[in-house]
Amino acid sequence: MSPDSKKPKKPKLRQRCSFCGKSHSEVKRLFSGHEALICNECVVLCGDMLQTEPDPESNEEIGNAPPPIEIKNFLDQYVIGQEEAKRIVSVAVYNHYQRLNYISKRQVEKRFGQVLDEVELEKANILLLGPTGTGKTLLARSLAKFLKVPFTIADATVLTEAGYVGEDVENILVRLFQAANYNARKTERGIIYIDELDKISRRDGNPSITRDVSGEGVQQGLLKILEGTVANIPPRGGRKHPEQQFVQIDTTNILFICGGAFDGLEKVVARRQGNKVIGYEVKNRTIDPKSADILDHVTPADLIEFGLIPEMVGRLPVSAALRPLDHEAMLSILTKPKNALTKQYARLLEMEDVKLTIEPEALDAAVVIAMERKTGARALRSIFEKAMLNALFEVPSRNDVIEVIVSKETITEGSPPKLITRSDKKVG
Ligand code: ADP
Repeated sequence: MSPDSKKPKKPKLRQRCSFCGKSHSEVKRLFSGHEALICNECVVLCGDMLQTEPDPESNEEIGNAPPPIEIKNFLDQYVIGQEEAKRIVSVAVYNHYQRLNYISKRQVEKRFGQVLDEVELEKANILLLGPTGTGKTLLARSLAKFLKVPFTIADATVLTEAGYVGEDVENILVRLFQAANYNARKTERGIIYIDELDKISRRDGNPSITRDVSGEGVQQGLLKILEGTVANIPPRGGRKHPEQQFVQIDTTNILFICGGAFDGLEKVVARRQGNKVIGYEVKNRTIDPKSADILDHVTPADLIEFGLIPEMVGRLPVSAALRPLDHEAMLSILTKPKNALTKQYARLLEMEDVKLTIEPEALDAAVVIAMERKTGARALRSIFEKAMLNALFEVPSRNDVIEVIVSKETITEGSPPKLITRSDKKVG
């Protein structure tokens, strides 16, 4: 046996990431595979790349939007009342998607040098005005559901100009991108609902000389994405870090629906309407700012006077006013929509083989309390959550209960709902 017949030493793996070359001390972790190592940073990077790769579905055609009547019929299943707003929004959304089809057809025609005319169809983002809890967000959410497009909600009050503490305008796009399952093309056809637009208005309604961080600056930031821009977004949100691959999102065709209560706008409208110039005479009529249809008459000038910057108003050419909900509408909201509150509780109890009976007087009482709170239909949920708590707490561990009865007293006095047992004995 020769002395050098010793087994050759297996070359030791350099303790460095085989992808970026960083050493063990430069990264948090190194994972070893078959003769290769990968660091935690490269794992994240590869994850991002996989997520941002277009998926095969992304080549699907935009397809024809359903006609406005069909859109409204769908909305009717979820949104009670608000007839005019539903009609306005249905038409606007139909035209929005028709426009997208038109653009893609024109692109094909251009390629073959066949463009006949130069009619430009401009994007029409939507402004929803009306008291809180009357269905603005619900309308936007239901639309996205029907159209099967990605949807996200942003609150204008938490947005700040880039660089200030708070949420960056671009983060809205990140959330839409996530809702689109990391598909950039789908993101570009999505819907973004921006809530509380009225809260970022200029306080005095006059263009300010100095920049107003809380209002005008944010409006300017929003304006950029409303108008259409190509934004580089970090796919996972948060801080942009150098290793991260950015995704480009063109916001030109994203539909923006902005909403707000616009408290005080009714006075602006009433004042203007009252001061109508007839002939050479200024007629001072008194218009009641509390009349239900006052916001139907909003003009761009009123919105500017309220404190939106003119460019923003120009980007929101379609506006629809939602009405305060009356007693009857609130009652319907409790029982009629596809996902009405009472239907949701009934389904939860049905899963326990228990029937839910809500007495009509209980529904009435809940509506009366909700109306006093002045937060629209939003109050109904908290009233019922409280009323149902006892039953939802007990029923899952009781197999003798066959029915839960919610009476007026459950709502008004907080007494627990009656639990009817198999032996038909009232326990609760
Ligand atoms: P906002 O107008 O403040 O955006 P939302 O759309 O968020 O109000 O409404 C809050 C909740 O109240 C919704 O989740 C929905 O359950 C209910 N709601 C409000 N308005 C209506 C309506 N017109 N039809 C059905 N439900 C409604």
